[in-house]
Amino acid sequence: MIISNFIDGKFTEPIEERMMDNFNPADGTHIATIPRASAADVDAAVLSAKKALPQWSALTILERADWLDKIADALEEIKEEIAQTESLDTGKPISLARSTDAARSISNFRFFAEFARSQEPLVFEMSDATNYVHTSPLGIVGLITPWNLPLYLLTWKVAPALLMGNCIIAKPSEITPLTANLLARTMQRLQLPDGVFNLVHGLGPEVGQAILEHPDIGGISFTGGTSTGRIVARTAAPLFKKLSLELGGKNATIILDDANLESVVPGVIRAAFTNSGQVCLCGSRILIHQSIYDEFCKQFVEQVDAMVVGDPSDESTQLGSVISMEHLQKIESYIDLAIEEGGEILSGGSRAMTGQVGPNPAGAYIRPTVIGGLSHLSRTSTEEIFGPVVTLHSFTTDDEAIEMANCTEYGLAGSIWTEDAERGRQLAERVDSGMVWVNTWMHRDLRTPFGGVKNSGVGREGGRWSLSFFSEMTNVCVKR
Ligand code: NDP
Repeated sequence: MIISNFIDGKFTEPIEERMMDNFNPADGTHIATIPRASAADVDAAVLSAKKALPQWSALTILERADWLDKIADALEEIKEEIAQTESLDTGKPISLARSTDAARSISNFRFFAEFARSQEPLVFEMSDATNYVHTSPLGIVGLITPWNLPLYLLTWKVAPALLMGNCIIAKPSEITPLTANLLARTMQRLQLPDGVFNLVHGLGPEVGQAILEHPDIGGISFTGGTSTGRIVARTAAPLFKKLSLELGGKNATIILDDANLESVVPGVIRAAFTNSGQVCLCGSRILIHQSIYDEFCKQFVEQVDAMVVGDPSDESTQLGSVISMEHLQKIESYIDLAIEEGGEILSGGSRAMTGQVGPNPAGAYIRPTVIGGLSHLSRTSTEEIFGPVVTLHSFTTDDEAIEMANCTEYGLAGSIWTEDAERGRQLAERVDSGMVWVNTWMHRDLRTPFGGVKNSGVGREGGRWSLSFFSEMTNVCVKR
């Protein structure tokens, strides 16, 4: 398969005619040739966005909400193709690609369409005057997204950006370009006005950097790693671009002494190993009250040992491959580090698939890995691994649990498991992070603020926070 950039409503070859390869991480096969675009392609995309902006931004928000519904309907028709494509490109289980990636990519458009219709005008009455808040689009926005939830995270930005009247230059991760291409195909089929949605494929330091530096791009919404986020901030901030940064995490899962392990263990496993731990929200540091530590370990390790790692197209697979061989080597280097730091591998730790027919040896597979015996301050326990690796730690008091939860540079998410929801709620407020779940994980209401504190990011997405990011506000005060 050969894919192209999508600029000005047309699929176009990269101006410098450079291409690169895209592989299936589950078996190492070549699946696509994609553009290795350059700043010249970004210029062409910005030019088309500039032409499209006046007409697109002149539509009412309700007219644009209708467009979002049309896009959702069209994606719904190719839902299975989205799931199959995402599974092929990322190595994730087809069941997960269906239930999470495809489903959420569609609901992102539906949600923002509905949300727009529920908005009331912002009016502030004074005794002698009326203030009302007029919103206008930012203009041309750059959307840069990672490989773990490719279409899910791209549409999470595309939907509110379109809704607020912006024109888009999107750059997906070059490792997972295929579903963004499906989105472009959908936009073309629906005849979304040319130039409103542009897609430029290529490398971060080339295309991504050109987007950051382009003087006509007024806002950047970036999701990716913290070190790349630093480059984004360093480049875009002096240009006074509006910036949203959704970055890495090293999230704590806190299990209190009163937790009911029968129901908690499956929840903690889901938090730890969904998408092979390659979700920014995954709970990779599990903090357990000392009084239940041994029993938790026993049940947790038994259930992790039984997880099925396998071919992503097999419906029974729970963990597919990780995203690439390079990423697998990074994960393995952290397992080696854990051993050097005095950790004990309680489950997994290697590519060897015990007790089951192994998946394709050319694929980037690793067993879900549980490590005990490490200090909560060790590098393994504080640096983001972004793979199926968790560390276990015990605590004795709630204060100690909070101190341990807050000891990393990150602050994205966390979860607390207890029979006493009120105690959980109170403790949640003391975790330095943007999101905390009590007795659940990744239970999302799209109206709520999503984002991190500390080195996990700046700003929030979701509901009115997305609408606010993708617009400028003018307060108009009319004296009576
Ligand atoms: P990266 O930071 O490597 O890449 C993210 C995107 O940025 C990619 O499209 C990448 O392109 C691009 N990029 C790389 N360098 C530059 C640059 N100099 N200028 C502009 N763009 C650039 O992240 P990963 O793709 O490895 O994704 C994993 C990371 O994302 C993890 O740290 C994870 O925690 C985080 N993440 C955060 C989420 C959140 O909501 N907080 C959600 C999901 C993931 P290319 O691929 O070509 O390098």
